[in-house]
Amino acid sequence: MPYNNTRNNSSFRSRPNFNRSRSSSSKSRRQYIDPNKFIKTAKVTEAEVYIPKNKFVDFNVNEIIKTNLINMGYETPSPIQDQTISLALEGKDIVGIANTGTGKTAAFLVPVLNKLISDKSSRVIILAPTRELAEQIEDQTRLIAKGSGLFGAILIGGVSMQPQLSDLRKNPQIIIGTPGRVKDHIERRTLRIHDVNMLVLDEFDRMLDMGFIDDITEIINQTSTDRQSFFFSATMEGKVKVHIDKFSNNPAHIMVKTSDTSENVNQNVVNFSTKEDKIVKLHDILISEQVNKTLIFDDTHRNVEKLNDELRNRGFDSEAIHGGKSQAARQKALRNFKESKVKVLVATDVAARGIDVADITHVVNFSLPQTYDDYVHRIGRAGRAGRVGHALTFIEKRY
Ligand code: AMP
Repeated sequence: MPYNNTRNNSSFRSRPNFNRSRSSSSKSRRQYIDPNKFIKTAKVTEAEVYIPKNKFVDFNVNEIIKTNLINMGYETPSPIQDQTISLALEGKDIVGIANTGTGKTAAFLVPVLNKLISDKSSRVIILAPTRELAEQIEDQTRLIAKGSGLFGAILIGGVSMQPQLSDLRKNPQIIIGTPGRVKDHIERRTLRIHDVNMLVLDEFDRMLDMGFIDDITEIINQTSTDRQSFFFSATMEGKVKVHIDKFSNNPAHIMVKTSDTSENVNQNVVNFSTKEDKIVKLHDILISEQVNKTLIFDDTHRNVEKLNDELRNRGFDSEAIHGGKSQAARQKALRNFKESKVKVLVATDVAARGIDVADITHVVNFSLPQTYDDYVHRIGRAGRAGRVGHALTFIEKRY
């Protein structure tokens, strides 16, 4: 994929079906969560004003990148960008503790792409847990690298290998992918990565949750030992820290302040007694005035489909995304939701991961999250950009 051209003639024309289901919804992860943890009033505090040390124009990076950032409307670096870019340009390994929405993508793309432009023998592998996130990274790569002549391939599962093979034959400097498909290519010897000297692992905690550690280890072990690595994770707890310590070299840790649950999300529960009662209560929520754009979580592909059908029958404009849908269908659903053509999106956790839709007012947990961490990820989709969001969790009444 040459970044001077439009997307049509590139490796990124391949938009996959989703048929690998490495879902994080395995029963064994289910945790009891005290329902009181789903109730909390949003704290509307003045957002702490971060004063960046740099502006994008101040960074010692290629003019093409600076121009592209300006064209993207990026003027002032976000906290994670401000700190990461300076240190990464010095060649340091980076561990960023930050979630989606903090600007972490550009935080690693700016230094990585800058190095690729200045040193044509450099190569990067960027791994992400889901196809959606890989594609969001690719979208930003395309914008930040526009006109640079860099070439990349996106290796995500569920599609024919052919377009990917054709891109790989051109020896791309940029590989963006999900661990399973990247490993497949390495095993088939269609991808050689011994000279990859930059590595990015995005949402590393999530990749571990999804059982990708063996694939990731195999991939990392084949890259150059003389490499610069970037890890982004929402937490640094337990095994996340152990693995990052193993794979990194004296990294700089950059923490973007996050609390254990979104402070600016009003959280409450909705008690229901029967299935019918549950759907009626959801209906009432969706027609209430303050509800604008709603993301509803349900647990399985089948339940997501069923609930979406039910809502459509009730006259709501809604869409569904889950791993059983083709990639094209998922993208269309997401686009319709982003562009407000539909106001309701029903999703599984995995499919919704990393989704960046700024104006979601409500998150509804129609099914309980598997873990409290999943809950935090879910409700973090509401109340973006400093707005107060709302999260409602359905709890079955017991007598
Ligand atoms: P991310 O956390 O990387 O997914 O980014 C979240 C959103 O913020 C994306 O829509 C980015 O395009 C946007 N964004 C990231 N950095 C900046 C910046 N410095 N200025 C304005 N928008 C930004």
